[in-house]
Amino acid sequence: MPVSDLTAIVTGAGSRRGIGRATAHALAAAGWNLAILDLDEAGAKETADQVAHRHGVQAFGLGCDITDETSVEAAMVHLDASDPPAGALVNNAGITSPIPFLQVTGTEWDRVFAVNVRGAYNITRRVAPGMAERGFGRIVFLSSVSAERGGGVFGGVAYSAAKAAQLGFARALARELGPAGVTVNAVAPGLIDTDITGGALDDEHKARLLAGTPMGRLGNVEDVADLIAYLCREESGYITGATYDVNGGSHIH
Ligand code: NAD
Repeated sequence: MPVSDLTAIVTGAGSRRGIGRATAHALAAAGWNLAILDLDEAGAKETADQVAHRHGVQAFGLGCDITDETSVEAAMVHLDASDPPAGALVNNAGITSPIPFLQVTGTEWDRVFAVNVRGAYNITRRVAPGMAERGFGRIVFLSSVSAERGGGVFGGVAYSAAKAAQLGFARALARELGPAGVTVNAVAPGLIDTDITGGALDDEHKARLLAGTPMGRLGNVEDVADLIAYLCREESGYITGATYDVNGGSHIH
């Protein structure tokens, strides 16, 4: 089935300068229809409008809290009723937290895991059965270099642990869904110029990170979006269970 007869779901794509919005544009440019889910309903609708207008595909944006199964179910009922079936899912919604381990609370730990891990579970658990039935699917997780190198960028232990959980999630799911024609991969970006840190990353910290980045610049959202669109292509069907670094060489292993 051509991707123009399928919908790609991107969570957390309401953010104006975020990776999700850029990914929605990259997928739409490749012909995918888009479902944009974000806690920020206005942002989700704005992304959907932009994408439909610029690329001439079907796109809708909905307010959805991926940590809440009822909210995810409502979004999926909307998609099932009016849109081409889901062929791709980009688990992009995420939050970070810089709090050091010796100060972190259980509440903060749970908050970080609720979005990055449980949220990704809620939506993937709902979408994957249809993909497996149809014999085609592309699932991509937004992990982080923090999962691989043990933090050291901005996020603390909770963030690194949650992003590492996504790697195990993606790899085990790749093994389970491969026979059904569904690939599952993770991308691990280094520091990308978005608003996820809420302005809490100061210039000195940035300069230190840049000094250890061979490509000599922060990543931009298109660097990550292009890679995700590549992994979602029909032709990328032999790539699964992989983690793709997109970090300017800041972590080479
Ligand atoms: P961002 O803050 O710009 O966008 C994240 C989006 O997720 C926001 O629109 C937010 O409203 C949404 N969101 C948060 N909680 C949600 C929930 N419960 N339900 C639905 N939506 C929710 O962030 P970004 O920098 O574009 O990051 C996107 C992803 O990439 C995240 O998973 C992040 O951890 C990962 N990542 C980012 C970087 C970076 O440097 N920016 C590096 C590595 C990995």
